[in-house]
Parts: sequence; structure tokens; C-alpha cells
Amino acid sequence: MAETKPMILVTGGAGYIGSHAVLALQEAGYGVVVLDNLVYGHRELVEALGVKLIVGDTSDRPLLDQLFADHPIAAVMHFAAYAYVGESVTEPAKYYQNNVVGTLTLLDAMRAAGVNCFVFSSTCATYGIPQTLPIPETHPQDPINPYGQTKLMVEKILDDYDRAYGLRSVRFRYFNAAGADPNSRLGEDHNPETHLIPLILDAAMGRRDNIAIFGTDYPTPDGTCIRDYIHVTDLAAAHLLGIDYLLQGGKTEVLNLGNGNGFSVREVIEQVRQTTGRDVVAVECDRRPGDPPVLVGSCEKAQNILGWQPRYGDLGQIVAHAWQWHQKRYGQH
Ligand code: UDP
Repeated sequence: MAETKPMILVTGGAGYIGSHAVLALQEAGYGVVVLDNLVYGHRELVEALGVKLIVGDTSDRPLLDQLFADHPIAAVMHFAAYAYVGESVTEPAKYYQNNVVGTLTLLDAMRAAGVNCFVFSSTCATYGIPQTLPIPETHPQDPINPYGQTKLMVEKILDDYDRAYGLRSVRFRYFNAAGADPNSRLGEDHNPETHLIPLILDAAMGRRDNIAIFGTDYPTPDGTCIRDYIHVTDLAAAHLLGIDYLLQGGKTEVLNLGNGNGFSVREVIEQVRQTTGRDVVAVECDRRPGDPPVLVGSCEKAQNILGWQPRYGDLGQIVAHAWQWHQKRYGQH
């Protein structure tokens, strides 16, 4: 008889990275329940995966207590968060309330229910301006926006909850999530879209006139910002390994997730031109406030501790999968 694996609660499972993690859990045989407030998430994604969706906030304690009473949850993967850096500057209250208070409420409901394994989406934005590259997990954390602050606060809460309550966690600090499920079952669908690759694909498709390059005077070889793009399916695979690790008794860890390679904005645009065979008009603009010139992660720790290896580390593959999904999502143009 096939082994029955435990049930995992995925908050934010209707979002971009969360939905790919739900798919990975399902394919590995885990039971899944999704909690999502659908502010930025998509009901169709969860329904298409045939997973139970509970619509609500992580700050709704009675809802959480009922959820834990109704389902034999063994561990929680927590993606639910607001993640627009610019909005976090203009509306910090929204970010502290959801990302910090919501997470605290969830952690306390877990404690009450006796659930003590937690996989948390943190971010390279907790490092602030890098002092060394590639950035190791031991790099000082000094975020330059409220979004990064909220994630850092939760990391600190998790340290204290482990010490006091034995709640073990794996925190993943993501670099730039990109790409889509290689079979185009899922993909990126933000509203509003602010991320580089889907915006360039929009330009390639004629859904927008051009792509703005935010800053061409950075201290990088071609003057544009360099980022470490990591395939969303590789992120999802790491989360699955994180759950296995915690359920087998692994101790609290913090792990970067990236490819360890950086690409400039101009290089990404050129990659889209090559992959799609389309012309993309690029317009040079001013810098976007809050963008460090270079963010590239050192990711050996995740490889050593979880045995994680990116499968789709090539930028061409990341863009090709994003393009397949984009064409499916918006039709062939
Ligand atoms: N970027 C850009 N034009 C855009 C959107 C983004 O030049 O229309 C740049 C941005 O300044 C950053 C990189 O692309 O250097 C990646 O930005 P994105 O918003 O995708 O991710 P972030 O690095 O902010 O997490």
C-alpha cells in the first residue's frame, strides 16, 4: 500500500510561489490545505490543482483554531504576505499588520494545536545593501524598506519561539523568483505586475510598448542592476525538502535560495529577445529608489543541508518557461 504522507497547511497557496509549492507537495504525495485571503492570490490556481481552499486571513485566530481542529496538520508552509516593496513604503501599516501580526497569530494558533514545524518565506531584502558578494546567510541583516523589516522581524520571532516553545523552522531567503511550471500548469500572475521578466514578456508580446530600464549608471559592467534569478519550480522543490527535513526532526535553519549567478537588466532583456525571437524596445530611465546595484546569493548551505540543487539554473530555461506560461495566459499574440 502506498505510504500516506501527512497534511501540510500552505498559507498563500493561491499566490505565485505558494501555488508551485502546493503542486510540489501534491506530486510528492502530501495532503494539502490552502489558506489564502485572495487579495493577491487566484482562486482558479488552487481549484485547478484540486486542493481545498479556505478563504481568510492569517490574523483570524478563530478561523485558524477551527482549521487546525478540522485537519490533521503536521506542518505549515507560510507564504501569505504582502510583497510589494514600494507599497510597503507608502502603506507600512498594511505590511506590519499582515506580515508580522498575521504571522504571530498563525504561530500562536500552531502552538495551541501542537504543530511545531514551520517553513517560512523570507527574502534577500532582509540583507539591505550587500557588503560582500555572493551574500552568505551570515551577512548582517539591515533592510532598507518596511517589507524587508517585516520579514526580518518574523525571523527574530522564530528564533525566540524555537528557544522557548520548540517550534522549529526553515526560513528561506529567496533571491529573484522567476519562471513558471515547465508544463505551464501555473505561472506568474501579479496584479499589478512590477517584476522584470513578465514586464519584458509583455513588451515582447505587444501588451506594452517598451520596457523601462531603471537606472543605467550603477557600478556594474553595463550600468544596470544585477540580480540572481531562481526558477520558481526550484524554489518549490526546496520547500518540499524543507518540510521533509523538519518532519524528520531537523533543527531550525536559515537558507538562501538562488542560483549564485547574477544577470544584469540588459542581459535579461537580451535573453528575452533571443528566447522569444521578438523585438523588445528598452527605454533608459532613472533609478528606482531602494534597488541595490547587485544581489547575488551564496547558496551552498541549502545544497549541503537539504541536498537541494537547482534543476533549471539556466536563464534561458527560466525565460522559456515564463514565455510558455505567458502565451498560455494571454493567448498567442
Ligand atoms: N527593473 C527594471 N524595469 C522594470 C522592472 C524592474 O529595470 O520595469 C529592474 C529593477 O530595478 C531590478 C530588477 O529589474 O534591478 C529586478 O526587479 P524586480 O522588480 O523584478 O525584482 P526585485 O529585484 O525588486 O525583487
